[in-house]
Amino acid sequence: MASSSSSAVTSISLPSLPLVATGKVRELYRISDSTLLMAVTDRISAFDVVLDTGIPDKGAILCQISAHWFRVLSDKVPELKHHLVSLQPPASPEVITRDEASVLRGRCLQVRSLKIFPIEVIVRGYITGSAWAEYQKTGTVHGLPQPEGLKCCSRFPGGPIYTPSTKAPAGESDVNISPAEARAIVGSTYADRIESLALRLYSAAHEYALERGIILADTKFEFGLDEDTGDIVLADEVLTPDSSRFWPAPVREGEEQPSFDKQFVRKYLIDNGLKGKEGVSLPDDVVRETTSKYREVFERLTGRSLDQALAALD
Ligand code: ATP
Ligand code: MG
Repeated sequence: MASSSSSAVTSISLPSLPLVATGKVRELYRISDSTLLMAVTDRISAFDVVLDTGIPDKGAILCQISAHWFRVLSDKVPELKHHLVSLQPPASPEVITRDEASVLRGRCLQVRSLKIFPIEVIVRGYITGSAWAEYQKTGTVHGLPQPEGLKCCSRFPGGPIYTPSTKAPAGESDVNISPAEARAIVGSTYADRIESLALRLYSAAHEYALERGIILADTKFEFGLDEDTGDIVLADEVLTPDSSRFWPAPVREGEEQPSFDKQFVRKYLIDNGLKGKEGVSLPDDVVRETTSKYREVFERLTGRSLDQALAALD
């Protein structure tokens, strides 16, 4: 029977496969020279720290939202290349055990192994977060001059802007950089193509989300290089609540917007003086409310429940 679990999966250990990397949320395993397995846990981070408590079903939600967007974006941008190979775990019991396959159900992506460009490809349609903080001080966003008079959460009047950041090693924070600095990192052969593809993907996703009553304020993409063809390939997670800011439409300019993801977690941490602290557990009501926010954004964006999406995998 296909249904989602009620306890959180905070680590995914697969003794059958070599572990390539552990991130804040994902474990990356190698299946073959050309294919990796991204196993998505229920871990949640806030203010750059992973909390001790996981959010039940979050990993499956992130995984299935990404899969949904790979389909939607491929329809809207036909020349798009992406890394998703399969939503199924590798064959069991040939490659992994049946127990490993059962842990992975709904929360894994088999992807093409790529050389990832070492920048975070961020596109912003609305001014908030670190961009708003910079603008208030200097009138710029990632060093790019902006028109006067923008309010908190205003839409950028000239359209979405490309605002990359460095990809910091674990434990360090990413640093906002200008497109020119990103060009120096990725090289001029790829810089313009990455920027124009990211802007197209953002606009396509913004339009799609808005039709569903959701504003995609900003998002972070990662791209890799297909060294055989020279193609730039969309990788990692895509347009999830962890990599994006989703707001309920319409925007109320001049004030912070309620977001569809970690608002209960962040509020709990701030209200209890726990912001940025290690080893923090969340109370049950905060966990429940957060799961329900992730489920809500999943349903609004994909038009089906998580259980329906998981049942379609069987
Ligand atoms: P965080 O997202 O929490 O800042 P993180 O990005 O280091 O941390 P995760 O998102 O948990 O970690 O793990 C995903 C990792 O897999 C990232 O390092 C990402 O660059 C990498 N990755 C994604 N897609 C591919 C791919 N197709 N080939 C190789 N590496 C990939
Ligand atoms: Mg990541």
